[in-house]
Amino acid sequence: MSAPTKYVYSFAEGSRDMAALLGGKGAGLAEMTRLGLPVPPGFTVTTEACRVYLRTGQEPPELGVEAARALADLERAMGRKLGAPDDPLLLSVRSGARFSMPGMMETILDIGLNDDSVTGLAKASGQQRFAWDSYRRLVQMFGRTVMGVDGDLFEAAIAEHKAGRSTTDDHDLDAAELAAITDEFKEIIRRETGGDFPQDPVEQLTRAIRAVFESWNGERARVYRHREHIPDDLGTAVNVQAMVFGNLGADSGTGVAFTRDPATGARGRYGDYLPDAQGEDVVSGVRDAVPLAELGRLDPRSYDELGEHLHTLEAHYRDLCDVEFTVERGTLWILQTRVGKRTAEAAFRIAHDLREESVITADEALNRVDGAELTRLMFPRFDIRPTDVPIAHGVAASPGAAVGAVVFDSAEARRRAAAGEHTVLVRRETTPDDLPGMIAAEAILTSRGGKTSHAAVVARGMGKVCVCGAESLAIDPVARQFTTSSGVVVHEGDVVSVDGTAGTVHLGALPLTASDVGRSLETARGTGPLTEAVLQALSHADSVRRLGVRANADTPEDAERARALGAQGIGLCRTEHMFLGERRALVEAMILARDDTAREAALAALLPLQRADFAGILKAMDGLPVTIRLLDPPLHEFLPDRTELAVRLASAVHPDLHDRELLDAVERMHEQNPMLGLRGVRLGLAVPGLVAMQVRAIAEAVAERLGAGGEPCAEIMIPLVGTVEELRQARAEAERVLAAVADETGRELGLPIGTMIELPRAALTAGRIAEVADFFSFGTNDLTQTTWGLSRDDAEASFFPLYLEKGIFDVSPFETIDREGVGRLVEMGVEAGRAVNSRLQTGVCGEHGGDPQSIHFFHHAGLDYVSCSPFRIPAARLEAGRAALADTTGTSDSR
Ligand code: ADP
Ligand code: MG
Ligand code: MG
Repeated sequence: MSAPTKYVYSFAEGSRDMAALLGGKGAGLAEMTRLGLPVPPGFTVTTEACRVYLRTGQEPPELGVEAARALADLERAMGRKLGAPDDPLLLSVRSGARFSMPGMMETILDIGLNDDSVTGLAKASGQQRFAWDSYRRLVQMFGRTVMGVDGDLFEAAIAEHKAGRSTTDDHDLDAAELAAITDEFKEIIRRETGGDFPQDPVEQLTRAIRAVFESWNGERARVYRHREHIPDDLGTAVNVQAMVFGNLGADSGTGVAFTRDPATGARGRYGDYLPDAQGEDVVSGVRDAVPLAELGRLDPRSYDELGEHLHTLEAHYRDLCDVEFTVERGTLWILQTRVGKRTAEAAFRIAHDLREESVITADEALNRVDGAELTRLMFPRFDIRPTDVPIAHGVAASPGAAVGAVVFDSAEARRRAAAGEHTVLVRRETTPDDLPGMIAAEAILTSRGGKTSHAAVVARGMGKVCVCGAESLAIDPVARQFTTSSGVVVHEGDVVSVDGTAGTVHLGALPLTASDVGRSLETARGTGPLTEAVLQALSHADSVRRLGVRANADTPEDAERARALGAQGIGLCRTEHMFLGERRALVEAMILARDDTAREAALAALLPLQRADFAGILKAMDGLPVTIRLLDPPLHEFLPDRTELAVRLASAVHPDLHDRELLDAVERMHEQNPMLGLRGVRLGLAVPGLVAMQVRAIAEAVAERLGAGGEPCAEIMIPLVGTVEELRQARAEAERVLAAVADETGRELGLPIGTMIELPRAALTAGRIAEVADFFSFGTNDLTQTTWGLSRDDAEASFFPLYLEKGIFDVSPFETIDREGVGRLVEMGVEAGRAVNSRLQTGVCGEHGGDPQSIHFFHHAGLDYVSCSPFRIPAARLEAGRAALADTTGTSDSR
């Protein structure tokens, strides 16, 4: 028979490995007790007991006995009895789940006080006022959190007493007044619940424990779990602990301390201290805390002792720790510890320093930072001085810093953008109609909506700064102004600064600082502790990662920047921009050509231009692969707008013949669903000479670079292939041209030819396609569109916010790869392709190539590389390294 389940553990019995059973707080208390730190003794009721309660509606029968025994042990250890009338033992009841979780029941302090023991406490402590204040707090907290009485009723009663004394400070209420308030509180409870505040200390304890169990299913806790993907069936533990008192006078107090600065990561203890106070006072902010160093002046012995414990804890947890502590009449007590939360900057510095101090390994250091943090550090930010007070706060919906003139609609944003002016689009909320304005503006500011509102989702997708839900702003688009809560009126054209990282808005133009991290990454030289930490993390990531990282880049400038940021080649060089601007006329000529001669002339004119483009990029990426994609979008994208043309023709006195021809062409080529129309390889096969011209431009550029002593590594990529036959024919044509140019130039031109896999059919028939492909590049943007059967631009602007809100999507499938659907197709494609062609190179060139979670997936799917926008390359290198570590350690995140 297995041992009976144990539901209660004294702090001395547990350890940090038991967080699932004891909760994070309980495991921390147990671990500190084991380490010999001064923790007030107590015991933990397990999450298993909570689970039984939630399942059956009753405590497990053994719990009562076990808890009674634990209480008896505690009483013996303390030499006092719970709620005894002379010198009572008092307890706190503290919730604590596996994961720290706001929304759970608040801590109840001073359990054990009643009409008798309050006098005992007064006598034992020598402080009447303290005793009554404690009793008052217990009745209030118990009434509110256990008995469900509206907390405002208690607050109102206190306020009345304070008003009677013409004061706003609790400290001005004396013992007699507090006793009167306590009586009123009991009366409120009786009136509101029909029951009495329980005088029996054991009943107080039992009911408090049960209330913690029940708070697991409270509304706020459930919402939080859903959002954070914490399972609903974990349950919470309950910690019962002997009280210590920080509110016994000037030689007492309470505070929070960190082993390092959680904001900057700088070495050295850091924190806040509040003399003559209890824990809840710190949170409620009734008085301002003083810097921790002040404790060193007030009570050097406790301060030094605290320093030693911080040292012990950090060495033990091998990470930044934060602790809650209380000093009772010069004696230090530690009440909680956990691995502390930190900013992105601190994460890098702390990981780096701990590694230098040989506390953790390089692998562990890499696991303590992530790509999202790195990206955040690369954005420019405001130089904010303490005197810069924001005019509004909202949701930090899309990070970065932007300065611009306020505008209230799309038209104005576009008008000013066309004139080169930076703008901030201000709307109550945005709709798809605002898209042009959002594109034109530097930042978006709304007064309604949260992180998944239309404004937030679209802004993040576009990489625009966004603050949304700034509810204090009264926006009047008709009067073209908004008013802040303090009455400041901001008119159209006034300049504001929007901080999408902090969620704040400032009047005027705050100075912008380019990020040191961004600069250091490009020069690969550290300029201070933070940049050195970042570079070190990246260099370790590079040494362990298996996944290559390439860039999506179409110009020599982007290629150079990407290379500086660590790109190992170009995974996607689009050729469509090479058909824009002044070259549009040539493209038009090609489309309008009435015979082969005219078309060939147009193509011949395009050829040298394309060759120069390719030569420039190959030079910038000399020695590294450059995957060039042949023309992909439908040709009519290069023609003028249909309506515009029609209007121009209709209103012209002498209709222009060229315009007439253009309109005919536009109408001929019009497609209902261009995304699913004549594009990609279909275009190459349909327009005679197009593939040949592009391949010739590539081949000649390669020959030219070879002639110049370079090491060009061009690869030719055919887009949107659905069947092997398309690729076979396009490839045959490309090979004919390559052979011809090789002949003409006397150069060896065996360029790899491959395809994008961006249609479900291509992934499903990858085994066939691999027969004629040297490489696959998964175009996960189109693959996501075609797998889901939706158009990204339309969907993101219309129903995505709704889908995110309804929880149908956790995250947009365009942001993070949909593993089960699109990801499955990628896995199948890789597997089938490799089975046929063991030398097949595989990569990803969609947006997902730069997304941390997706990168981990691609690593495990066995791809050779990911390719992403230049600015995402550092984060991609970091995450590729972390993904490789996960193979050996089984986890990619130790936090
Ligand atoms: P949270 O999970 O919100 O941090 P805690 O359970 O840590 O809640 O309790 C909040 C505060 O209550 C603590 O920081 C501490 O100041 C105070 N507190 C809890 N237990 C005790 C105790 N045994 N003695 C004195 N103060 C306590
Ligand atoms: Mg706490
Ligand atoms: Mg595509």
